[in-house]
Amino acid sequence: MRIHAEQALLPEGWARDVVVSVAGGRIATVQRDVPGGRGCLIPAPVNLHSHMFQRAMAGLTEARTAGQDSFWTWRTLMYRFLEQLSPEDVQAIAAQVMVEMAEAGFGAVAEFHYLHHGVDGQIYDDPAEMAARIVQAAKETGLGLTLLPVLYEQGGCDGRKLAGGQLRFGNDFKSYYDILEASSEHVKVLPDGRTGVAPHSLRAVSRGSLAQVAGLTSGPVHLHIAEQMAEVTEVQAAYGARPVDWALANLPLDGRWCMIHATQMTAGETAALAATGAVAGLCPITEANLGDGIFDGTGWRAAGGVWGVGSDSNVRISLREELQLLEYSQRLRDRARAVLADARSTGRVLIEESARGGAQAAGRDAGRIAPGAWADLTLLDTRSLALEGLQGDAVLDAFVFAGDDGLVTDLWSAGRHIVQDGRHIARDAVAARFRKVLQRLRGAL
Ligand code: ZN
Repeated sequence: MRIHAEQALLPEGWARDVVVSVAGGRIATVQRDVPGGRGCLIPAPVNLHSHMFQRAMAGLTEARTAGQDSFWTWRTLMYRFLEQLSPEDVQAIAAQVMVEMAEAGFGAVAEFHYLHHGVDGQIYDDPAEMAARIVQAAKETGLGLTLLPVLYEQGGCDGRKLAGGQLRFGNDFKSYYDILEASSEHVKVLPDGRTGVAPHSLRAVSRGSLAQVAGLTSGPVHLHIAEQMAEVTEVQAAYGARPVDWALANLPLDGRWCMIHATQMTAGETAALAATGAVAGLCPITEANLGDGIFDGTGWRAAGGVWGVGSDSNVRISLREELQLLEYSQRLRDRARAVLADARSTGRVLIEESARGGAQAAGRDAGRIAPGAWADLTLLDTRSLALEGLQGDAVLDAFVFAGDDGLVTDLWSAGRHIVQDGRHIARDAVAARFRKVLQRLRGAL
């Protein structure tokens, strides 16, 4: 297969009239100076953090329920909602989410998967039934998947038992291991699929298990950390250190790790965490939606930190809006413009760095248009009004800050051409099934 673009963002910079040949899902060759292509070809970033089932409750938690609304009231509705979800529902929702991610320009997803069990915590015959459904959705939609089964043991740092909706997430170390093993088997049907592990957070996993869980895999290790001030206070009271300080002192952090959110960090924590090589997994839209706070993007990048973006709650699925909001949050805080730009423009920094960090976080050999990498590629419509006459960095600035998601005309995930002319190839069938799930769920709330 050949992809022929008018311009392309290669590791060494912009090139014109580029032909990318793909074999076995990977980029085989990259030729320049072959006129006659169309569009602007960029590496498609991985969406590094998602809880797909939450897409079905997007937009339902925007009213105040009791006093000052907060993350915690959001979580209450989420628990009520997920009592309704069957494995079939999860597959239908996951497929819809994957279609939307591909149409937004994401080349793959790392799913932080914690809805393991039936209602009341009953274990399915296949303990990885829910994981299998997500794998099936990836197979149907062709979006690359790194599956991260989540270890969730307790209701807080004090070791309190899980209750209510949390029972569907809960495992001890042994039952978690069974799910991880069975998940790895399921993922084998995906040629580019991977598994990793995800200890949910310092609150939900005991210190003993946190020390062991990374040893269960050679794949990525993802952990929610320092998202909300309440979490900082709880961890500090229980363990005597702020969450990131505690992780730095007690966990074998390196480039395999992805620290999700890392919003609440001191300057010292920011520099020390960046130096470990761990990826900061940022979810700007969800973090804004939940009122988490502003990640220190300038401090992180100054310390050489690697980062990428994910859509987390999936309240909105848009690559360009995640990147735009990351930059805008820095501008609003600093009262400055082009805060994340360097010798490259802001849009280019955002695309290049999120592609690199997303691939690292997913343990996926991608994020660059170069021989050997998975062919995760996004094509932008340079015939559109938003991109008319633009070249190089200016294309990405216009895409991120002035465009819309319709600028993504084509997307390949490990060479699978799943978005064509702006539409996922299975969009209608997947949407029809998702609509039925929404009708039932919303009727039941
Ligand atoms: Zn999350």
